[in-house]
Amino acid sequence: MLSVKDLVVHYGAIEALRGVSLEVPEGQVVALIGANGAGKTTTLRAVSRMLRPTSGSVRFRGEELTRLMPHDIVARGLAHAPEGRGIFLNLTVKENLDLGAFLRRDGDGIAADRERMFSLFPILRERMSQVAGTLSGGEQQMLSVARALMSRPKLLLLDEPSLGLAPQVVERIFQVLRDVSAQGVALLLVEQNAHKALQIAHRAYVLETGEVVMTGTGAELLASPEVRKAYLGE
Ligand code: ATP
Repeated sequence: MLSVKDLVVHYGAIEALRGVSLEVPEGQVVALIGANGAGKTTTLRAVSRMLRPTSGSVRFRGEELTRLMPHDIVARGLAHAPEGRGIFLNLTVKENLDLGAFLRRDGDGIAADRERMFSLFPILRERMSQVAGTLSGGEQQMLSVARALMSRPKLLLLDEPSLGLAPQVVERIFQVLRDVSAQGVALLLVEQNAHKALQIAHRAYVLETGEVVMTGTGAELLASPEVRKAYLGE
């Protein structure tokens, strides 16, 4: 469904991606792991067109995305829950959710999906009329994921959904990601928590200094001595 080929990205003179290729098949969970600065966030940004790659191709359901604008990409079924969450801190929870559906005109469908988000994340229902800036970090992270899901994506890009959260909140987020994936949404997941990411990933890629250095199923990478040593703290 998503096919990234030979993606090169520069920040000025810095070459952040040096020819990254990866695939996300329909409905699958793909994890991207690697040390700080390896290029994980940059990969997601280039896919969702938050930045322009120097070269390479990003095809989504047969269409080249590198020529489109970010909102065109949302309309094609690709949503991005970015690093730093990307929610509007001065707007309420409900307003943030409705903004996630900004391209949709089906009022009844939007209301039904808002309900679906409240059943996935019951705390968001309690906080519905609160401005997002008053939520805890974990609640903001849930809102970021829920907001991205409000566009009804076929593929959701997630940047560090568990960063800085308490263990129960991390569990909750990963449970929701499993549920969302079981409903057929594909996920491209960037995670510092490599152990959790590899547990839910059908496939994973290891990035090092802007290059893919290893790929395999989640189970294969969990069992790999190199991965265990470098990313699972063993
Ligand atoms: P992290 O987990 O720390 O976010 P990452 O794997 O997501 O790491 P990127 O954020 O994609 O890595 O960064 C890749 C490289 O590009 C790093 O060397 C980083 O310093 C550099 N970089 C990232 N953003 C910028 C920017 N806006 N300007 C200049 N250099 C940048």
